Amino acid sequence: MIEIRNISKTFHQKKQAFKALDQVSLNIDKGDIVGIIGFSGAGKSTLIRTVNLLERPDEGQVIINGKDFTKLSSKQLAEERKKIGMIFQHFNLLSSRTVFDNIALPLELDHSSKDQINKKVNELLKIVGLEDKANDYPRSLSGGQKQRVAIARALANDPHLLLCDEATSALDPVTTQSILQLLKDINERLGITILLITHEMEVIKAVCNHVAVIDKGKLLAKGTLSEIISDRENPVIQQFINSDIMTLPQELNKRLQKEPEDGLFPLVE
Ligand code: ADP
Repeated sequence: MIEIRNISKTFHQKKQAFKALDQVSLNIDKGDIVGIIGFSGAGKSTLIRTVNLLERPDEGQVIINGKDFTKLSSKQLAEERKKIGMIFQHFNLLSSRTVFDNIALPLELDHSSKDQINKKVNELLKIVGLEDKANDYPRSLSGGQKQRVAIARALANDPHLLLCDEATSALDPVTTQSILQLLKDINERLGITILLITHEMEVIKAVCNHVAVIDKGKLLAKGTLSEIISDRENPVIQQFINSDIMTLPQELNKRLQKEPEDGLFPLVE
């Protein structure tokens, strides 16, 4: 259903070139929950952003339901993007809008009628368990509730695919589990394919049936969760599995990557 074929992407900054993705290929079947795991800076966000062409690859193709996204006109691409929902680490809600109006936004942009909007938003509030919060503003919600609003908004146009960019990284472990359970329910009940990126193996283990491991812009491995875990030959994969590094706060994680030989960092900064 989704074919990422030999994607490469180089960023140019201050006269320096940096290859963020190097010939990455990945196939995702309809109805799958696929996790992309890797350290900070590995290229995960860039990869997920190439799927709906928020980031245009320098080389390669993204084929979704038979359509090559790299060849679509901007008008065609805008239409296709409506069918791809996206959620982010920091929810990206509009603070001046109520929960109801945040969820209604994609429908308003699509010129749906008032009745259609009311029906759909109420349906979505039920799915994400926030019927009693419709008139609240984001500032009065917990992180988990904000992410539920963001998920409802991502579902407004009945997407076939949900892209999740570190969707639980800003949440505590219990809330993380409830959001992951919601994503699982959405996948099972609505048949929506989910592609998520994370630096935490626990997230992958909780919901993904397929995994891709990315490191320094290259795809290191892909397969089922058990195939990846049992790959004893690959030292980077073993590092992900055996070490707590993936669950450390991101800043500390970055420092550990920069100075791995030192290792003596205070856990509380
Ligand atoms: P990850 O999501 O795995 O943390 P990213 O995909 O965000 O990694 O970034 C991969 C690399 O590409 C990083 O070194 C990052 O600094 C670089 N990068 C990402 N986006 C840009 C950009 N717009 N301009 C310049 N460099 C970028």
